[in-house]
Amino acid sequence: MTRFDGRVALVTGGASGIGKATALRIASEGGTVVIADVQDDLGAEVAAQIEKDDGKSLFLHLDVTSEEGWTDAVAKTVDAFGGLNILVNNAGIGDTEPLEVTTLATWDKVVAVTQTSVFLGMKAAGDALKKSGNGSVVNISSMYGIVGSGVSPAYHAAKGAVRLLTKTTALGWAKEGVRVNSVHPGFIDTPILGDTDRAGLIAGTPMGRLGKPEEMAAMITFLASDDASFATGGEFVVDGGYTAG
Ligand code: NAP
Repeated sequence: MTRFDGRVALVTGGASGIGKATALRIASEGGTVVIADVQDDLGAEVAAQIEKDDGKSLFLHLDVTSEEGWTDAVAKTVDAFGGLNILVNNAGIGDTEPLEVTTLATWDKVVAVTQTSVFLGMKAAGDALKKSGNGSVVNISSMYGIVGSGVSPAYHAAKGAVRLLTKTTALGWAKEGVRVNSVHPGFIDTPILGDTDRAGLIAGTPMGRLGKPEEMAAMITFLASDDASFATGGEFVVDGGYTAG
């Protein structure tokens, strides 16, 4: 399979979980992948794994809350590989508490990493994506960008914002050769779950199991590829049935 031959992707949060699975999948289908993360050792390992399998990859340290960091990351990507076709805004963090005890500092941090990052990323990469002629942005929201859970106010607000930021950018760029879509995972077995009780998450999921990062990568790479050439502004739920009820 060579859906990504000649294409360059930048994946934030590419050192771990869903981002790592997405980076490996894009590389396995011929794409060049820039892995951008704050986890330097793990990110470099993913890039090395891709290179070992005869792919092309580069790890860049990027704190997705930094506007200067984004400018630098896009410039280094274009310098190294000649352009940018695909942006996967995947890095994110969550909060876990009820609104009453959530501090402003927690709110600001979660919104910066999970929401503002998507704005900064699309702003920094916009020109290069338009120049590519076949640009695709995949913004990772959450099922909790569509429905509530009772806690985690900052995470829900940020993921809901990503959903609509995606739609308005998709409309703005509809004739610019750049598609923009959001993906809404359910409970996926990655390090972000920490010590959350897996049994409770499984019990709440109609399919009766957690999702795998590779199952997210399948949807993300579909949207990143020409297979999704008429899809823009869409929200793609991959949640084992959670939001269907
Ligand atoms: P993950 O394994 O924790 O991966 C996220 C990566 O992003 C980590 O390497 C993390 O580093 C990095 N990161 C955090 N802050 C960053 C920053 N400021 N700049 C750059 N990178 C940063 O989590 P995941 O489950 O794959 O999550 C990927 C996305 O899917 C997130 O947006 C998440 O909200 C979303 N999602 C996940 C689930 C799920 O159940 N797993 C469900 C719905 C949505 P650190 O480990 O150092 O923070």
